[in-house]
Amino acid sequence: MNEKGTQVAIGSKRVKKTNIGTQTPSVAEKCDKESQCGLCQGSYGRDRFHQRWRYHDLMLKLQDKENVIKWLMTERLLAKDLMCSVCEDQMKLVRCNDRSDEFKWDCRRQINNKRHKVENSIRSGSWFAKSNMTLEEILQFTYRWCQDLDQAQIRHELGLNTNTGYHRGHHVEGQWVFGGIENDSRKCFLIAVEKRDEATLLPIIEKWIEPGTVIISDCWKAYCNLEKYGYRHFTVNHSKEFVNAAGQSTNKMEGHWRQAKAKLPPFGVRNHHFSSYLAEFMWRYMNREEDLFQKFLEAAKKIYSV
Ligand SMILES: [Zn+2]
Repeated sequence: MNEKGTQVAIGSKRVKKTNIGTQTPSVAEKCDKESQCGLCQGSYGRDRFHQRWRYHDLMLKLQDKENVIKWLMTERLLAKDLMCSVCEDQMKLVRCNDRSDEFKWDCRRQINNKRHKVENSIRSGSWFAKSNMTLEEILQFTYRWCQDLDQAQIRHELGLNTNTGYHRGHHVEGQWVFGGIENDSRKCFLIAVEKRDEATLLPIIEKWIEPGTVIISDCWKAYCNLEKYGYRHFTVNHSKEFVNAAGQSTNKMEGHWRQAKAKLPPFGVRNHHFSSYLAEFMWRYMNREEDLFQKFLEAAKKIYSV
């Protein structure tokens, strides 16, 4: 949200379980940005004219363990090489039968007549590092997750163990969420907050919205000083009107709330889990025109640089 002159609607909502599960998803807008589309570029080399991953494509990739690993190394989702912690030289990629990956990094060089034996997981430092599922299971799981299946459905579908501590969280009374959305883009933020006073909301506004931006909000008192902080602030009095005299409304934000609430878990979750649900919702929203599996792999590569 950094272009001056853009229009952002903001607001806060207490999300309660009674509000959940009654919304219908809106129809995705058509992509008109063919030339800038991330799918037509990037390093995945399989993209032609918005070609998207099909489950079949993935299954072909996963037929042979060695090919899976080569592919993941080429995509830099797994490290291509690893330095030995003893001799600081390149380790060797060797086959093994004591790991589900079937390969490991290995060094048995001799220094000063003393042989050392160092081995490492091929997952070191990667997005796969902390999981005890196989590489194939993780990739299939991720593919299904990108299709918006929930964990229980995916576990059932993939025949994975269903007793691995999956739980739906603890009941909470309701959680305040503060959010904003730009009128002419998919830029947005949604943040779980303990209070919705000015001291809480203003730093968030200043973090996410550039000074000079037109902000449309309801008449909540915490927003009354926005003009002093360099914003052009307009309000819609929801007890009287949906659109103010200038023709402005918070309709896009209201629609966003409905969509977000429909995606939150039914019995409420603790704050740190709540934030991850909001993050998931925003990620799906902002990438709605994209191939989510492709986007996910790109993000994993970026976050866990190997
Ligand atoms: Zn070594």
